[in-house]
Amino acid sequence: MSDSPKTERTFIAVKPDGVQRGLVGDIIARFEKRGYKLVALKMEQATEEHLKKHYADLSAKPFFAGLVKFMSSGPLVAMVWEGLDVVKQGRAMLGETNPLNSKPGSIRGDYSIDMGRNICHGSDSVESAKKEIQLWFKDSEVSNYQRANDCWVYE
Ligand code: UDP
Ligand code: MG
Repeated sequence: MSDSPKTERTFIAVKPDGVQRGLVGDIIARFEKRGYKLVALKMEQATEEHLKKHYADLSAKPFFAGLVKFMSSGPLVAMVWEGLDVVKQGRAMLGETNPLNSKPGSIRGDYSIDMGRNICHGSDSVESAKKEIQLWFKDSEVSNYQRANDCWVYE
């Protein structure tokens, strides 16, 4: 992968509540329509052990055990999206952690109410995106490909 800013990558997941509520297609469509490129995707019921690694920085929080249990309670959809500023833009598209603070138009602001059922995850920095992508995907599961319409997305 080159170091072009257009190849920045982020880890986005539709959490088990988003899968149950039939929001996978909508969430994917938002990133596609924006112009971001999908480079990896899988459905998986993650183990608590795996999720404890994913949320390691939150291990001291009172909600940690419940979060890990909930996240392992059903299949989720894990994805890697690529494009200019995708980490920050992805967070903006998701909305705030607390859906009640999320603007209409954001994914959480449109589809969720409760912090513990906020339907999606997005990496919070380029550094954590790198860690999360490595945790969820083997190198061979992430596709490197040219998109024919990139000249209509980027000047
Ligand atoms: N969470 C929660 N209660 C809280 C804070 C967070 O249940 O007081 C959950 C919420 O689902 C959130 C996840 O823990 O998405 C991870 O928390 P983080 O602060 O990393 O928020 P995010 O990066 O997902 O916006
Ligand atoms: Mg976070």
